[in-house]
Amino acid sequence: MITEDTRKLVDCPCGCGRDIPKISGSVENGNSKTNFYAYLMDEGDGPNLWLMLQSGPWFEDGLDCAIVVRSVRDEDGLTAYLKGQRASPWKDIEIPELKFLTREEVMAQEGGKAWVFRVHDEITHHHREISRFMWPDA
Ligand SMILES: [Zn+2]
Repeated sequence: MITEDTRKLVDCPCGCGRDIPKISGSVENGNSKTNFYAYLMDEGDGPNLWLMLQSGPWFEDGLDCAIVVRSVRDEDGLTAYLKGQRASPWKDIEIPELKFLTREEVMAQEGGKAWVFRVHDEITHHHREISRFMWPDA
């Protein structure tokens, strides 16, 4: 089940000067709940979605983990890339309780990549506004 918590127009983090939607919400599967934050960017080449998933701790430090995924449309449909914090719209935020993972850390975690893309797919296909943004011709 997907819940939307907030939606607002913000300055596009890329610096293009446009106002773009920023959405936060959560995805629930059984007992697990994942918060997500999304920037719906479009620099003229089609949808450019930046999604940050906040999960519970993956490591012994007990910190919640943040995973960044960028998704674009192409001839094959939708392609998603794991990204580090520094390349993302969240590059300037620092939250002591939140550990941004590198692509390598996600790949090294057993089941990590599969989990990220499962939640990503659920959001991009089933969150109403985000799915309309990603699939405007559907
Ligand atoms: Zn922009």
